[in-house]
Amino acid sequence: MITVEQLTKSFGSHRVLNGVDLRQAASESVVFIGPSGCGKSTFLRCLNQLESPDSGRVTIDDVTIDASKPVQRETQRQLRLRAGMVFQQFHLFPHLSALENILEAPVHVLGRPRREVEAEALDLLARVGLADRAHHRPSQLSGGQQQRVAIARALAMKPRALLLDEPTSALDPELREEVRDVLRRLADDGLTMLLVTHDLQLARDVADRIVFFHGGSIVESGSPTELLDHPTHPRTREFLGKTA
Ligand code: ADP
Ligand code: MG
Repeated sequence: MITVEQLTKSFGSHRVLNGVDLRQAASESVVFIGPSGCGKSTFLRCLNQLESPDSGRVTIDDVTIDASKPVQRETQRQLRLRAGMVFQQFHLFPHLSALENILEAPVHVLGRPRREVEAEALDLLARVGLADRAHHRPSQLSGGQQQRVAIARALAMKPRALLLDEPTSALDPELREEVRDVLRRLADDGLTMLLVTHDLQLARDVADRIVFFHGGSIVESGSPTELLDHPTHPRTREFLGKTA
């Protein structure tokens, strides 16, 4: 579903991605962990073209972008449609209700009929446990509820994969569990997810595979048990606070 080949990205003279390779199957959920500033967000942003990589190739489903060639706007648009994005800071429209936030892109970007999309949006709200919050605005919702609306909004575009950048990091610890619960269920339902997080509980709960990222490249990867309980690389051990 997702293939990344030799992806590189620099900001000025600072090389942030150093030739990243990843192959991710449909329905697999892969979690990236690693220290702040190691390039995790840049990696996700390069995947859906919020940043342009300097070299390498990204394929999501049937769309490939090769950074060594001029990128067509339409190809970029198709890639973005296949990869939904969820951010740490929700980024909901503050003046719109939960329901209106979800309807916005399917109606205004895809031009789908409002009534049809509305039925799907209400289903999605129910799926994230917010059937009774459809007409609340973001300011009337808790952080955990806002993030669940943001997840429903991303799913409303029917992406082939969901990219999530620290989806629980802006939340108070007691609100993280409701978001983990939604993401666990999506993973169990077979959604392809690529997730960056510092929330090791979330990583353990949803990951088929955890990748330790450091210095712009993948250091090691494995099942949650392998990587979190029996890391082999000294940098991974250090990050996880494990002594050899
Ligand atoms: P992470 O998500 O792992 O914390 P980021 O991908 O946000 O790391 O950042 C990796 C590095 O790239 C950091 O040193 C950061 O300062 C730098 N960086 C990120 N975005 C930009 C940008 N738009 N311009 C310049 N430097 C950036
Ligand atoms: Mg980040």
